[in-house]
Amino acid sequence: MSEAPAAIYEGKAKILYPGDDADTLVLFFKDDTSAFDGEKREQLARKGEINNAFNAYIQTYLQEHGVPTHFVRRLDARRSLVRRLDMIPVESVLRNRAAGSLCRRLGIEEGRLLEPPVLEFFLKNDALHDPMINRSHMRTFGYASTTEVELMEHWTQRVNTLLSARFADAGLVLVDFKLEFGRAGGEILLGDEFSPDGCRLWDAQSQEKMDKDRFRRGLGGVVEAYIEVAHRLGIATDA
Ligand code: ADP
Ligand code: UDP
Repeated sequence: MSEAPAAIYEGKAKILYPGDDADTLVLFFKDDTSAFDGEKREQLARKGEINNAFNAYIQTYLQEHGVPTHFVRRLDARRSLVRRLDMIPVESVLRNRAAGSLCRRLGIEEGRLLEPPVLEFFLKNDALHDPMINRSHMRTFGYASTTEVELMEHWTQRVNTLLSARFADAGLVLVDFKLEFGRAGGEILLGDEFSPDGCRLWDAQSQEKMDKDRFRRGLGGVVEAYIEVAHRLGIATDA
């Protein structure tokens, strides 16, 4: 009798399993939702399958528009196959409008249009509360080379151009988002996931929040909002 393979890593929202070979991994999308560096946690029924479907759509859309990503294919409701990356421990955040930590740090009012958009880097480290870092930190501490930082900036801006337009077509404002990148075969690829867990989306008419801020702020209707966004993009969720 064959046993299920052991997990390589279990994070707050996903579990990583070995793929068919050493170059691939399986991402398993959990229903667990967390905020405030893991301090607030809950299970939200169906969130995992919605985010898996959402991420598959976005990663495929980005690939079709020339963005190099780790995505190979969706395997089933909760699992996707990806290329295994040597992750750069940095979150690349792009902001079109002020929200979240930018407002808290700089005293900017929520919703202010940011022209040009703001690009920030944060070290992925829950114990340190993901501190903001700059190019100089990345070079000195070896998180990423100058060339890698330039590629991360380039692809983050490109993703913003592509997805801001795509979400606008669906009546949504892409307020901000977080990306992670990693290395494989001498290339920098977009890794991790793109879902309403890692971006802010507002309804273009009502400005209603359609993303994880519903969870952070206890507004309710979290998965319902994710499903609404998915349907507006034409993503099947079998609901
Ligand atoms: P966290 O680690 O922040 O709790 P998750 O639960 O989403 O987040 O775990 C997914 C982990 O997998 C993250 O640490 C992410 O950096 C990592 N990861 C995402 N894509 C890949 C990949 N293609 N190869 C290796 N690691 C990846
Ligand atoms: N974000 C994320 N993971 C993190 C931190 C931020 O996906 O660990 C996303 C967040 O959902 C938002 C954007 O990055 O879309 C900017 O987040 P911000 O810095 O405003 O942080 P927060 O409001 O969560 O403190």
